[in-house]
Amino acid sequence: MKQIEYVNCFSCGKKQLSKDEVALNKKMIGREIKQFYCLKCFAEYFDVTTEELLIKIQEFKEQGCALF
Ligand SMILES: [Zn+2]
Repeated sequence: MKQIEYVNCFSCGKKQLSKDEVALNKKMIGREIKQFYCLKCFAEYFDVTTEELLIKIQEFKEQGCALF
């Protein structure tokens, strides 16, 4: 059973990150992470654009990643 967890962005404090944002954090940083970042802060952190992250999310979904 999937647990629904609401997390806020560790950096800017954005409330209730989306499922995709949380999944991206877990996928890119690690499943055991405690601090999550919203798409915008995540893009800054990895020095990419949010568009690139959205494409990545789409790719992970197409690969059938269990996190998404
Ligand atoms: Zn943020």
